[in-house]
Amino acid sequence: MSHQYDIAVIGAGPAGQIAAIAMARGGRRVVLIGPEPGGSDRRTTALMDQSLAMIERLGLWQELRSSAAALTVMQIIDGTRRLLRAPTVAFRSAEIGLDAFGYNIPNSALLETLGKAVAAEPLITRRAFAADTVHLGVDAVTIGIQGEDPITAGFAIGADGRRSKTRESAGVGVKTWSYPQTAVVMNLAHSLPHQNISTEFHTESGPFTQVPLPGLRSSLVWVVTPEEADRLTSLSVEQLSVEVETRMQSMLGKVTVEDGVQAWPLSGMTARQYGKGRAAFIGEAGHAFPPIGAQGLNLSLRDIAALEEILIDHTSAPIAADCGDRFDRKRRIDIASRTASVDLLNRSLLSGLLPVQMLRAAGLQVLASVAPLRNLVMQEGVAPGRGLKSLPSLLREKVRR
Ligand SMILES: Cc1cc2nc3c(=O)[nH]c(=O)nc-3n(C[C@H](O)[C@H](O)[C@H](O)COP(=O)(O)OP(=O)(O)OC[C@H]3O[C@@H](n4cnc5c(N)ncnc54)[C@H](O)[C@@H]3O)c2cc1C
Repeated sequence: MSHQYDIAVIGAGPAGQIAAIAMARGGRRVVLIGPEPGGSDRRTTALMDQSLAMIERLGLWQELRSSAAALTVMQIIDGTRRLLRAPTVAFRSAEIGLDAFGYNIPNSALLETLGKAVAAEPLITRRAFAADTVHLGVDAVTIGIQGEDPITAGFAIGADGRRSKTRESAGVGVKTWSYPQTAVVMNLAHSLPHQNISTEFHTESGPFTQVPLPGLRSSLVWVVTPEEADRLTSLSVEQLSVEVETRMQSMLGKVTVEDGVQAWPLSGMTARQYGKGRAAFIGEAGHAFPPIGAQGLNLSLRDIAALEEILIDHTSAPIAADCGDRFDRKRRIDIASRTASVDLLNRSLLSGLLPVQMLRAAGLQVLASVAPLRNLVMQEGVAPGRGLKSLPSLLREKVRR
C-alpha cells in the first residue's frame, strides 16, 4: 500500500522535532504534526555526552554551542539537617577522559534551533495543527486534522506528551504516580564564576540543583512542597534572590534571580508498552519522571537512536507492521532502569526513615571513596552500557591493587 509519508511524527516538542529531523536525515519522507511549542519555557536541559554526539551528527550543535555551558564537575552536597548526613561527592569529567559530561542548554534556544532545522529539511512537511484522530491500522496509519484531508503514513511516532493521543489510540495504558513536590525553575545571575561546576544540594523536600549557563549565569531547579512553591513564586525577585543565595551558602556570591520564575508539579508516568504495531511512543508520551540527574530528554534521544536503527533502511523499503513491537522490546530495560533509579533517589531524599537515610549516606560514602565505582557511575551517566562494558577491567584493576 502506498502512503503519503513514510513516517508521521505527532507532537512538535523537543522529542518530536529531533525525531523528525533524524528520520528525514535517514531518507524517510516525514510529516511533523503539532502546534508550534510556545516560547515561554524557561527551563534548561542538560544534555549528556552521548546525546550531544547525536545533536552534533544531526548538524544542530554549531548553532546551539554559543547558548550552552559545559558541565565539567557535578557535585552532590547533603543539605539536609538530618542526623546522618552523606559526604560531599564530586564527579569530574576528566576522570573518565571527557572534556565535559555534557552541556546545559536553555529550552528556548533548543526549540529555536530545532524549528529552523525542521523548516530547512526538504524531507519534512510541517503541519502546525493538533491531530484530532489517530487510526493505527494493519497497513497504514491515518491521522485526522479538523478541516483538513486525512494524512496517511507507514508509521506513527507519538511524541505528543503525557496525554498522548497516539498512545491512547493504540489502546496502551499507563502507570502514573505522583510526588508531593513541585519544581520551582528559574535562571539567575551571580557575582562569582561557576567554573562549569553543577552543584546539587540534597534537601528534605528534594534536590536544589544549580546548573551553569554561559557567563556569570546559572539555571536552578528547586524541588519543594507545593505549599513552599506557592510561597516562593509569590516572592519578589529581590526577596527570592536572598533566599536562593542563603540556600547556596553564597557559594556563587551575590545572586540576582531573573524574571520568569516557573513552577512544575512533579509526577511520574510510564506507558505499559513503548510501541505497538505501526506506532512508537517516545519522550513524555512514553515516560516521565522528576527532573533529577538530567534524565528526561536524554532518555528520549536514546528512544530516537533506537528508532533510527529500526526505521531507517537506506533502500527505502516499506516499514514493516511490527516495528512498534520491536521498538518496545528494544527500549524496555533502559526506560525501566532509569525510571526506577530516579524514583529511588527521589524517595530516599523524601524519606525521614533512619535506615533509608543510612543507606543513602552509605551509598554516597562509597561513591566518594571508591574511584572505580565512581568511574562506573559516571560512565553510565553519560552513556548507558558504557560503564558496564568496562566493568570487568575495572574489577580486575581493583583486584590487582
Ligand atoms: C523542571 C524540569 C527540568 C528538566 N530538566 C531536564 C534536563 O536537564 N535534562 C533532560 O534531559 N530533561 C530534563 N527535563 C525533562 C524534559 O524537559 C522533558 O523530557 C522534555 O521537555 C519532554 O519533551 P517532549 O517533546 O517529550 O514533550 P513535550 O515538550 O510535552 O511536547 C509534547 C508536544 O506534543 C504536542 N501535542 C500534544 N497533543 C498533541 C496532538 N493531539 N497533536 C499534535 N501535537 C500534540 C504538544 O503541543 C507539545 O508540543 C526536565 C523537566 C522538568 C519539568
